[in-house]
Amino acid sequence: MLNHTHDPAARSWLASANGHPDFPVQNLPFAVFSERGKHPSPRGGVAIGDQVLDLGALHGSKLLQGHAAAALAAAAMPSLNTFMASGPETWRVLRHALFAVLSSQADAATQVLVQGCLVPMKDAVYSLPARIFNYTDFYTSIHHARNVGRIARPDDPLTANFQWIPIAYHGRASSVVVSGTPFHRPMGQSMGPGAKAPVYGPCARLDYELELGVFVGAGNTQGAPIPLAQAEDHIFGMCLLNDWSARDIQFWEMAPLGPFLGKNFCTSISPWIVTMEALAPFRLPFTRPADEPQPLAYLDDAANRAQGVLDIQLEVAIETAAQRASGATPSRVSGTSFRHQYWTVAQMVTQHTMGGCNLQSGDLLGTGTISGPTPAQAGAIIEQTKGGREPITLDNGETRAFLHDGDAVILRGWCDKPGAARIGFGECRGEVLPVVGAVAG
Ligand code: CA
Repeated sequence: MLNHTHDPAARSWLASANGHPDFPVQNLPFAVFSERGKHPSPRGGVAIGDQVLDLGALHGSKLLQGHAAAALAAAAMPSLNTFMASGPETWRVLRHALFAVLSSQADAATQVLVQGCLVPMKDAVYSLPARIFNYTDFYTSIHHARNVGRIARPDDPLTANFQWIPIAYHGRASSVVVSGTPFHRPMGQSMGPGAKAPVYGPCARLDYELELGVFVGAGNTQGAPIPLAQAEDHIFGMCLLNDWSARDIQFWEMAPLGPFLGKNFCTSISPWIVTMEALAPFRLPFTRPADEPQPLAYLDDAANRAQGVLDIQLEVAIETAAQRASGATPSRVSGTSFRHQYWTVAQMVTQHTMGGCNLQSGDLLGTGTISGPTPAQAGAIIEQTKGGREPITLDNGETRAFLHDGDAVILRGWCDKPGAARIGFGECRGEVLPVVGAVAG
């Protein structure tokens, strides 16, 4: 699995890439961007240090040849769907070609050519990386399921299916936005505790959910499920994802069919998609305690057991309007790792297709809220505040039971371990605006 593109000793001729916490030459994540005030047309880009490598410009330079040039042409398009559909061999060819021209081994002429294709990251304006046709959100953290389940069902927090099925619901693709896009607090219907009738009004219990997004690469034919052994060949890469949640609206409406307006107003994703090849050094075995249900055969194989888990470090910060106005650092409110998740991304892909459902290139899967075993590792504020009853205190003394207008939530993710170069996802940021367009209820 590992090759020279993972070598922690590898350096780039671009000084800002070396030791960069997110984007050294070992990472090379993909996004779609345009350059502020210059080229309004979006195109594919790859992060390197504090720069974006403009894949459109690189393609125009004719530096790459053959398979790599064809892969580059697809990756340079205004959405990455075509490149995603091309499959792991093409993704690998382009990664290795880009590594070659960005590494310190590149010759002087190549360096000059590639230097001319770099755009400062501070001038990049990001678009959604792909046309997202379908968005499915899983529910795969047993700690999150227990924490939230305890609020509704103190005696029986975990539903009977959780340890057998990677649970999910089909979400709303049209309201997925790229990091930096603000959204308005949703209106909706909710039923207060002990109330006899619901009320219509602004969401009073607005929350975030710390998740990872999984972009589907090549899809499958309807009626032809993806076996577990092939599942990861269908995953292009991963990003940060915030599944904003209106808890009061959600808890009233979700019985018996699941989330609707409580979830469909906005989902934020980071612009950068880190490829599965870049994540290869950070794999861990998938294990289940002997006294818990073992996965059914179609969700179990030796490869998934050996290395199905990804150790991705994650954290959540809140920046209030007051913190922003004073230039204060956002308050870190929790941190965890994706390694604690109950199901792997391969199991999610297989479960999604096992009944015959066809995935399409650019489909987005959310992993579900990522919460670790301790309260400080909770991926949603409803868990940290025990349903809003115990507000958290931020660095500047402000307290939050749920999110206020003007709050921004910032997710960060990275992988770091001895013997590997640290790579990161950058950030996923979204800000809560007041309600608009409220209809008298
Ligand atoms: Ca979710």
